[in-house]
Amino acid sequence: MTTGKINVSVENIFPLIKKFLYSDHEIFLRELVSNATDATLKLKHLANIGEAKVEYGNPIIEVKVDKDGKKIHIIDQGLGMTAEEVEKYINQVAFSGAEEFLEKYKDSAKDSGIIGHFGLGFYSAFMVAEKVEIITKSYKDEPAAHWTCDGSPEFTLEPSDKTSRGTEIILHIAEDSLEFLEEGRISGLLQKYNKFMPVPIKFGTRTETLPKPENAPDDYVAETIEVDNIINNPNPAWTKQPSDLTDEDYKNFYRELYPMQFEEPLFNIHLNVDYPFNLTGILYFPKMTGDLQIQKDKIQLYQNQVFVTDNVEGIVPEFLTMLKGVIDSPDIPLNVSRSYLQADGAVKKISNYITRKVADKLKSLFTENREDFEQKWNDIKIVLEYGMLSEPKFYEKAGAFALYPTVDGKYYTLEELKEKTKETQTDKNGNLVILYASNTDAQHSYIAEAQAKGYEVLLLDSPIISHLIQKLEADNEKLTFARVDADHINNLIKKEEETISKLSDEEKEKLKTELEGVISDKKYSIQLEALDSQSAPFVITQPEFLRRMKEMSQTGGGGMFGMGNMPEM
Ligand code: ADP
Ligand code: MG
Repeated sequence: MTTGKINVSVENIFPLIKKFLYSDHEIFLRELVSNATDATLKLKHLANIGEAKVEYGNPIIEVKVDKDGKKIHIIDQGLGMTAEEVEKYINQVAFSGAEEFLEKYKDSAKDSGIIGHFGLGFYSAFMVAEKVEIITKSYKDEPAAHWTCDGSPEFTLEPSDKTSRGTEIILHIAEDSLEFLEEGRISGLLQKYNKFMPVPIKFGTRTETLPKPENAPDDYVAETIEVDNIINNPNPAWTKQPSDLTDEDYKNFYRELYPMQFEEPLFNIHLNVDYPFNLTGILYFPKMTGDLQIQKDKIQLYQNQVFVTDNVEGIVPEFLTMLKGVIDSPDIPLNVSRSYLQADGAVKKISNYITRKVADKLKSLFTENREDFEQKWNDIKIVLEYGMLSEPKFYEKAGAFALYPTVDGKYYTLEELKEKTKETQTDKNGNLVILYASNTDAQHSYIAEAQAKGYEVLLLDSPIISHLIQKLEADNEKLTFARVDADHINNLIKKEEETISKLSDEEKEKLKTELEGVISDKKYSIQLEALDSQSAPFVITQPEFLRRMKEMSQTGGGGMFGMGNMPEM
């Protein structure tokens, strides 16, 4: 047997990094703008603690496309690098200057918002560029440096005559990546990844019309000026304190997030926690109407204000993926597989935290303004009912605010409903029978019949309601649900005052035999009590369990979101 050491040389690794480091080539821009942002935030921090004796000012980052020269420039006014630092931070692949910085300034810099941490971001430039230049001048009083590399492990490093502080990265775009020289492509990427980054980002200029002066003459021609086109909002709502935000601010931010969405959200939940993990964000409950399957405005995941993904599966509990908004957390491990994410303890905690916050918010909406909450119920019930079925923790809390509407527009919690019906709707075995309709038109006469007898009839029409009913029955002793057209209603204990029948017992018996002759299907039973009210001549009912089995086989399996994850019943 022989053993040995596999020889990995830089020459072999480098092309691999280039090709496979990130599956998505477009993220090079996110990485380089993140580095520019880090450089700016580091300088801010050093100036704050007095270590850098510089005028911090109002630094911006500029992205420029030179289509003819086939170049993209990313220019910052951050802390820059000395030649020695270029050697250290750039030439060492997978050495993160960001991590080193955070380590060095541990306590004071922990909230500085610094993004980088793998020490690989810079090299993503080579996914789209055949040659990369760095021209950089440190805030320290040292000569500027000029680094050039064509993607091979060889580089050149020479002095530069740059005089202003900061770094310019020049990408010489490769032939297979010329799409990135299109202005529209770059502005699309900036919109996607950098829209809420903390340092202003300039991309070209735009024309602004000056306000018309008061003493303007009749033939006044509007005056325009060219201003920097800043593509981002460096202080998005979720980074602020809830107490500093009004309802209007939350609505405005919703529009900022989803410019093409015209429907207003129903309410929002501001997330803000820093122990045992860091997480901020704002979630919005949209109106849940129409097509649930089609959802393009999803929850967006950010890390220190850099967009990461809108696939939050595993981070947000499944039932809440229907919500909208943002989550920002530096503690969510990125660039890892989804299955790993789901197993990660920190991520599980985040998911639980979000569930709890949502439940708490719903409870406070319910207690603070019940009427308003009742009005919103129909627009949110699907999500909440699904949550009750799929998240035990949510189910526990939802007892306090989950509502069961009646056909005549009243809303009860389950406890209220039990209280309300316990005298009137029990059967011979002492079970409380909750009657419900699933369609007020089709079941109209049954509803009228039950109401005539003084029973409460709920209107439960969600696609997954039969699953929820099963769960409620399993968890509440002596509680049964029965649809108004089910035979249960026959078994309810009659109230004292019997109505005077229009038919004699003999006549009734005769009619029943006749009807049974017509309805040959023995699944149905005939009920003549209705003859005594005005609503219907007679009623045909079906055993509840038969109907329910049929219904469950229709809604089971795929689940209502088509996610195939309906809990086992
Ligand atoms: P990370 O950002 O994870 O630390 P990168 O590969 O993105 O790793 O960058 C490596 C290092 O290069 C950074 O940590 C930083 O020290 C340095 N660097 C990259 N870009 C800049 C820049 N624009 N200004 C100053 N330093 C930079
Ligand atoms: Mg980086």
